[in-house]
Amino acid sequence: MVKQAIKDLLILQAEDLRIRDLKTRYMSLPRERAALVAEFDVVRKGLEKAKQNKLKVEQAVKQQAAATKAAQEKLQALKIKSSSIKKINEYNAILAEIEAAKKSISDSETREIELMDEQEAADKLLAKAERSYKATGRTVQAEVRELDSLKEAIAKEIEEKEKRSAELAKNVVPNYLEPYRRMLAAGKGSPVGTIRNGSCSNCNMKNSPQTTMEARNGNLVNCDNCSFYLYDPEA
Ligand SMILES: [Zn+2]
Repeated sequence: MVKQAIKDLLILQAEDLRIRDLKTRYMSLPRERAALVAEFDVVRKGLEKAKQNKLKVEQAVKQQAAATKAAQEKLQALKIKSSSIKKINEYNAILAEIEAAKKSISDSETREIELMDEQEAADKLLAKAERSYKATGRTVQAEVRELDSLKEAIAKEIEEKEKRSAELAKNVVPNYLEPYRRMLAAGKGSPVGTIRNGSCSNCNMKNSPQTTMEARNGNLVNCDNCSFYLYDPEA
């Protein structure tokens, strides 16, 4: 039968290990929160980029329309000028200029059509970025709120459990308590593990027959290897 002193220590350990888990969770919360904020930042920058892209395309559309208009005005001027020219070589020269102006108008109009497509694409991109911004914003906001309330709840639970742990510690044999707390503070494994067929549940190493026998007799022993506390559940 497992001795009451060991049982008392195990009850304390169960509480303390829950506290340790809660603290680990608590410590991970700021990182989770920062990751959420970073996720939102990516979407926010995406929206900013889409807005700038739209402005850039709009600017290009205006410039191209102005270029078309200028080319058309030039063509008009050349036509007027050509009507008053009498010399054949001058007339041929102005005809060439008229052809060049016509080509310039045509090129500019082609570019305007291309830019309309670009404008449509920019609008679609912006709409998508806005949807993403809103959706992620909502999700992130909700998740951040959830994390913040979780943080509060965990802090409260830790506080309650620490009070309970302090109460439970009063039941533990004083000689066990200090080494136990040192092992617990190491932050790894359970300070009080089990020994089965001589094997330590904490480090998996085999203990001497003497240690194994002492545990078999219902005593709390220290592992020969890791020196954590061990008890034999079948004692
Ligand atoms: Zn061990």
